[in-house]
Amino acid sequence: MTLHIYQARLLHYLTESDRTERTTSDHSQTLIAEQDITLLPVIAGVRVYPEYIADGALVIDDETGLIINYGSREAMLAEYVLTTIDESRESVQIHDHRHKLIMPGFIDTHVHYPQIDMIAAYGEQLLDWLNNYTFVTEANFSDPKVAHDTAQFFLNQLLANGTTSAMVFSTSHPLSAEAFFTESHRLNTRMITGNVLMDQNAPATLCVPAEQGIRDTQNIIDNWHERGRQHVAITPRFAITSTPKQLRMAGELYASYESVYLQTHLAENHDEIAFVKQLYPNHKGYLDVYDDMGLLGRRTTLAHGIHLETSEYERLRATGTQISHCPTSNLFLGSGLFDLPKTLNYTGVSIATDVGAGTSLSMLTTLSEAYKIQQLQSNQLSAHQGLYQITLGNAQSLVLDNKIGNFMPNKEADFVVIDMNATALLERRMAQTKTFEEQLFVLMMLGDDRVIEETVIAGVSRYRSDVS
Ligand SMILES: [Zn+2]
Repeated sequence: MTLHIYQARLLHYLTESDRTERTTSDHSQTLIAEQDITLLPVIAGVRVYPEYIADGALVIDDETGLIINYGSREAMLAEYVLTTIDESRESVQIHDHRHKLIMPGFIDTHVHYPQIDMIAAYGEQLLDWLNNYTFVTEANFSDPKVAHDTAQFFLNQLLANGTTSAMVFSTSHPLSAEAFFTESHRLNTRMITGNVLMDQNAPATLCVPAEQGIRDTQNIIDNWHERGRQHVAITPRFAITSTPKQLRMAGELYASYESVYLQTHLAENHDEIAFVKQLYPNHKGYLDVYDDMGLLGRRTTLAHGIHLETSEYERLRATGTQISHCPTSNLFLGSGLFDLPKTLNYTGVSIATDVGAGTSLSMLTTLSEAYKIQQLQSNQLSAHQGLYQITLGNAQSLVLDNKIGNFMPNKEADFVVIDMNATALLERRMAQTKTFEEQLFVLMMLGDDRVIEETVIAGVSRYRSDVS
C-alpha cells in the first residue's frame, strides 16, 4: 500500500461527538475554528462545528481508500514520514497543495442523470416542462447505448464539479439504472439510484405497469444494493405519475428492507399540488398520499417541499422524512421560495442541484442561488452553513455520515482540492478579504467547476482539471 499525504488548507465540519473523539485522541493538535459560529444542524440535536487547519495534512491509504488521519502538517509529517514507519507500508507519497483548500467531496441529494441532455430548456413551469422536454428526453433511454454514454458523461461532470456522491433519478427503463450503477461501480463512487416508477399520466413509452415496475426495482436491489459503494432507492417519480396501486406496492417494498432508500418529489408547484388533490380527493393533502402509502421514513428524501401546511411539516418531523432543497431548479421553473431555516426547524434538509430543472451541477453555484433565495425572505445563509450542508449535512440527511462527509479517521477518502484563486476575478477578490470566512463566502458566491482542481474518490484521483 501507499500512504498518501495531501498537504493543504483543510476545512470540514465535525459533530460534537467527532470533536470529543478528536480532542481525547493523540491528535489534539488540530485547531478548532471560531467557537462562536453557530450552525443549524441537519439532524435535530446533533451540533456541528467547523474545523479549519490552515497548514494541514490529510493522510490516506490508497489500498483501503480510507482516511487514516488528519491534522497539522507538522504533526502528520512527524508521525507518518519522519519517524520509523510500519514496515508493511511500502511507500509514502506527498502531495503538495499548500496554497489550496481541501474539503470533503460534495454530495448532491437530488439530480436526474438522463436530464443532462435537456438542461436549460426554455419557457415552461413544472408540468408542461415535464411533458414537453423531460419525457421526450427520457424516452431515449430505452437504448442501452444512450444510457451508458449519458451515465458516463454525467458522472464525469459530477467529478469535474467536485461532487463525489449523489442521490440520482434514472428513467423508468431498468437498464438506465443498471447503466448508471455499472459506471459508478467502475469509478467506485458512492451513489444512490433506482428505476423510476411511472404507470399513469406520462407517455405510454415511459409507463411501466405497477407490478412490472416494482419487479424491476426488486431486481435492481438484488443486483446492486450495497454492492461496493452502490445503494438502491425505490423511486416513484411523484404522486401524479403513479397509480395508488403502484405507490402502495412501493411502500410495501420499502417496508421490507432496512437500508433501501426511497426518493420522490413533493409540493414543488401550485398546479402540481392541485392536480394531486384532484387525483386523491379523499386524502388530507399531498404529503398524506405518501404517508398513507407507506412512503415516509428516515431513508426517504422528498425533493422540493416548498409549499407545505404546518401539519405536513409536523408529519415530516414525526416520520424523520428528509427534504431536498433545489435552489436553481426552484428559480428556473419559477416554483417558489423555499424557507430553509423554517424547514430545518422541523426536519433534515439537504441541498441539491435537481438538474435538468436545476441549471448547474456545481454545488457551489447551487449554494450561491440558495443564498439569494434566503435573502428574498430576509433569511441568511452563511458560508459555513452552506458548506457544512453540501458535505457532512447532506451525508447526515442520507444516513451516510458514518462513511462520508468529513475527514474523521476511517471514513472514505472522497475529497476535493479547491483553487480559491482559479480565475482572475477570484484572485483579485480574494486579495481583498480579511478573514477566512470572508474567503469562503466569496468562494460560495463566485465558485463553480473552475475552482475544482482535483477530485479524489476513495483515495484514487479520478479528475484533474489540468488533464481533462
Ligand atoms: Zn427532480
